Amino acid sequence: MAIATINPFNNKEVKTFDALNESSIEEKITTADKAYSTWKEQPVAERTKLLSKVAELLLKKKKELAKLITLEMGKLIAESEGEIEISSAIYKYYADNAEKFLEDKPFEVKEGSAYVRYTPIGIILGVEPWNYPFYQVGRIAAPNIAAGNVIMIKHASNVPQCAQAIEDIFKEAGAQTGVYTNLFISGDKIGKLAEDERIKGLSLTGSEKAGASLAEAAGKNLKKSVLELGGSDPFIVLDDADIDHAVEQAFDGRMKNMGQSCTAAKRLIVLESVADEFLEKFTKKMSGLKVGNPADESTEVGPLSSEDAAKQLAAQVADTVKAGAKAILGGKRLDREGAFMEPTILTDIKPGMRAYHEELFGPVASFYRVKDEAAAIKLANDSNFGLGGAVFSKDIKRAERVALQIETGMVFINSPTNSSPELPFGGTKRSGYGRELSSLGIEEFVNKKLIRISGK
Ligand code: NAP
Repeated sequence: MAIATINPFNNKEVKTFDALNESSIEEKITTADKAYSTWKEQPVAERTKLLSKVAELLLKKKKELAKLITLEMGKLIAESEGEIEISSAIYKYYADNAEKFLEDKPFEVKEGSAYVRYTPIGIILGVEPWNYPFYQVGRIAAPNIAAGNVIMIKHASNVPQCAQAIEDIFKEAGAQTGVYTNLFISGDKIGKLAEDERIKGLSLTGSEKAGASLAEAAGKNLKKSVLELGGSDPFIVLDDADIDHAVEQAFDGRMKNMGQSCTAAKRLIVLESVADEFLEKFTKKMSGLKVGNPADESTEVGPLSSEDAAKQLAAQVADTVKAGAKAILGGKRLDREGAFMEPTILTDIKPGMRAYHEELFGPVASFYRVKDEAAAIKLANDSNFGLGGAVFSKDIKRAERVALQIETGMVFINSPTNSSPELPFGGTKRSGYGRELSSLGIEEFVNKKLIRISGK
């Protein structure tokens, strides 16, 4: 895949970038390794000063950075600004809390004393997706840089200007060269990088295919990996839910980022007695939205991230309909230039159809009607994915009981799955392993070193 900005609003190429050659990659690893040797010696309080500065610069440059996101992957401009805000909040969160998270952890022993000290391990390589180009990077860069590791990022090939802007911000914030490095390379270089002794950990957010390939390379070289992969989150509406609230939240959960979120509310699972009311109100909400340029504040439906993404989604929908499902709204590409897809609602989806098993990465809601709570749980769990999920009910105890039976890494009650710096984020099953954000996120790539002092 060429490293290039292609505006998905009109599919025009804006700017291309050259991939790094072998010797430039080697030079960057050498620089990062050198930076690590001094960065790891800095007190945490010094390291977090850099994060505070990055947080500040992100907010200062919010408008211009948001424009870059919208240009490169088509996000609605208000959401792009929101992404910069949460990214800044992540850097600020670790700036404020890393010292506490990295404090020695004592362990009770019969005699003497013992504690674990969190020590950095070296260069961490992150492979990141285009869907939240600043936020995804923040999730790995902020905790690791606070912990004393240094970061190299291979970003998605369609967001090179965002990738470069992040490195520039670190530089402007005063980071020593090598503490944060942007790598313009293709995915097939990851295997070779995993072999490099100086790279100690690998993390990938993206598809199952890319995740498996990175995990294989990490495994072969006995290196720790973290995978944040796709999802097909269930959004369960119980019969005692506030339906108007559930409809609003389903709309936000499904349409946020034009449906291109790993934790989007992809499968709406509604109990029979409230299904008609929910579907009627949800269809109304999804209808008549204003299509247009994502850079225009009034646009409600923008393009997907790329022409390929739109083609793939349209094919998944077409195959599902051909197999017997119904598109009660939309179902096709919009008849205009750019990577647009109609907001779509699919019903009558059965096992064996593509929409039943695959992740639909765009504005397509899969609607399921089920007879009771047990059927809702069974359907929710009949998925290879296990990222997030949501349960709607006025009875919180009942919702918790359902939530505890959902096989995912996160379940939200009366809201769609979302993310904030202080909450752990990650999945189970084929959605990956490991956690980002919160205190758990800083523990993934550190040596938890035991020091035992004998009482004898
Ligand atoms: P993707 O194709 O897997 O791309 C993600 C990143 O992996 C890009 O940087 C890509 O580089 C790279 N890559 C692709 N093939 C690779 C390989 N064989 N080896 C190493 N790296 C490789 O993912 P996508 O389809 O663009 O992104 C959307 C996916 O990410 C969805 O499935 C979504 O659910 C998931 N996601 C998960 C989370 C989470 O936290 N769990 C968050 C956001 C997104 P190129 O661009 O150069 O191909």
